[in-house]
Amino acid sequence: MPIKEKIRTIPDHPKKGIMFRDITTLIKDPVGFRLVIDNFTQRYIKGDIDFDVIVGIESRGFIIGGALAYTLGKGFVPVRKKGKLPAETISHEYELEYGTDTIEMHTDAFPKGARVLVIDDLIATGGTALATAALIEKLGGSVVEMAFIVNLPDVGGAARLQEHGYRLYALTEFEGD
Ligand code: AMP
Repeated sequence: MPIKEKIRTIPDHPKKGIMFRDITTLIKDPVGFRLVIDNFTQRYIKGDIDFDVIVGIESRGFIIGGALAYTLGKGFVPVRKKGKLPAETISHEYELEYGTDTIEMHTDAFPKGARVLVIDDLIATGGTALATAALIEKLGGSVVEMAFIVNLPDVGGAARLQEHGYRLYALTEFEGD
């Protein structure tokens, strides 16, 4: 699969035992970047998965979500780490392996009842994606699907999302390798 082949793997980054799937090698390649955006565009342009706005997760979700918002003619909303957004925000704290993290979104990011497509580069444990969904729901939105370039099914995030009733779409996966 051309997309998978263009993703670089860095063993033991950022710590021992982690196989870091680096999408910078995919998106610096103009064919690779276009393949990613075209694939997502084909899925969502038909309109059978109906949504109002794209929410991208800091920071690689901005690159893909921004381009996709453009091809689909939708607006783009960033979910950011704590303290980065300038106006009034809503926040959600979630558990990490050690400690907690907080993500934020502007309270006026979208109107109540908005249907949201969530975009990030990769799903591992699913913690970030579930926290993003919680934030969207606190604001009165609903998540129609969460889309990623890479799924790591062995880590369990995809199963977690599905247990919580969220739809997931991924362009490629690294399983047992
Ligand atoms: P998680 O919350 O565990 O699903 O992690 C998701 C976030 O962490 C994504 O935004 C990824 O960018 C990053 N991430 C986690 N594990 C990896 C990995 N093995 N390779 C590359 N990025 C990762």
